[in-house]
Amino acid sequence: MADDPDDVFSRAHHHALAFRRGLDDGPQRPTADYRVMLDRFAQALPDAGQPGPAVIDDLMARIRPGLAAMVGRRFFGWVMGASHPVGVAADWMVSAFGQNAGNHVASPASAAAEAVTAGWLLDLLSLPREASVGFVTGATVANFVCLAAARKAVLRTADWDVEADGLFGAPPITVLIGADAHATVFSALQFLGLGSNRVLRLPTDAQGRIRPADFAERAKAISGPSIVILQAGQISTGAFDPFAELIPAAKAAGAWVHVDGAFGLWARAAPNYAALTHGIEGADSWATDGHKWLQTPYDLGFAIVRDAEAHRRAMTIAASYLPAVAESERDPSHYVPELSRRARGLPAYAMIRHLGRKGIADMVERHCRLAARLADRLRQEEGIAIVNDVVLNQVAVRFGAGLADETADELTRRTIAALQAGGVAFAGGAQWRGRWIMRLSVISFPTTEADIDRAADAIIAAWRPIRDAA
Ligand SMILES: *Cc1c(COP(=O)(O)O)cnc(C)c1O
Repeated sequence: MADDPDDVFSRAHHHALAFRRGLDDGPQRPTADYRVMLDRFAQALPDAGQPGPAVIDDLMARIRPGLAAMVGRRFFGWVMGASHPVGVAADWMVSAFGQNAGNHVASPASAAAEAVTAGWLLDLLSLPREASVGFVTGATVANFVCLAAARKAVLRTADWDVEADGLFGAPPITVLIGADAHATVFSALQFLGLGSNRVLRLPTDAQGRIRPADFAERAKAISGPSIVILQAGQISTGAFDPFAELIPAAKAAGAWVHVDGAFGLWARAAPNYAALTHGIEGADSWATDGHKWLQTPYDLGFAIVRDAEAHRRAMTIAASYLPAVAESERDPSHYVPELSRRARGLPAYAMIRHLGRKGIADMVERHCRLAARLADRLRQEEGIAIVNDVVLNQVAVRFGAGLADETADELTRRTIAALQAGGVAFAGGAQWRGRWIMRLSVISFPTTEADIDRAADAIIAAWRPIRDAA
């Protein structure tokens, strides 16, 4: 069946616009749950094909109720960017051009755009210009890639070639990590054979930061190959580890320092917030996301490694039909686990080109100011407490402050449900220090002050009847 591409592309274009235009006044969360969506998609495997435009229309007709307003202006759930139209358009071109962007010979344009974007990124984030950047699917894989490079490098100092000889019989690696690190960092350790349980978890303060005194105590025990994992932007509080104190101490003990900065690393691009990351440039590797604060569509993350050689050796795929690594120009596949891959650099290139250094700084600063405004509005209402120091864009809210813990847990969960049902704004629940909070992340490019005020009103309106009935 040969459809005119125009017919299928234009259907997709039409539906994409209709979806985006309906967001502001539509529900923020899906109106159909997973079971309902399974029913909507369920049908026997088709024997005969269907024309392309009909397939696209049918997809849209089925899918809509199961979509969330993640790209909307009052969606504060998890930590999610809003897939900016410029990034989406570039991403459509990535798919339309269908480049296998693994190496620079097969698709020179994809590789060149990525190489230039890597340099821009290091400049924007003020990281060492000699660092290498792998364009991966998100911070989870970025953590994995960075820690693979770390594993390579620290074992090499013990004369162990982990890529060739594996971990059986290798010298043990000591891993120190804060107790409030993101769950995906523990998965990265699990993938790498470092174990998510055999690490030393350092206690943290009320905001989730490692205390320098605790670290100094543990660091005395470091000997041999070791990795220290720090965090820029704790998922619930937005807090930053005290890099300027921790990193020199970790380096003095001979450790590789990795920083998970999935969203928090972007504070570095904003002059008024960059101080939160002071000293972070002394680390050895950094993981961050494109699909959070840079607003690219899913999925995009960056694995940044100071020792480009360790990065490359940890990820290299060698085959007779691929260019030899040592002499080659930069191949995107040298820095990521995949060989065949989409041209992930293009949406990042487009977003940086579109916003510019100033636009990115302004956006990050605006989101942080709006988060502070939201917290100020909420804390004035009786029974609402802000649990975190709002240093960045994350706001952790507790309802029923002053009541028994279990009661406040219950009231918090009910307020979250009422807010979500109301449909004006979306925020999810999370646990912090074993207690329920409503967690809001201000990180979507279209969000304005008016949206924040509407969201604050909606949260307060959800809370009042629950409070008054309690
Ligand atoms: C989101 C996040 C991750 C995981 O990133 P993905 O893009 O979902 O893979 C890791 N660490 C932190 C701090 C995050 O916020």
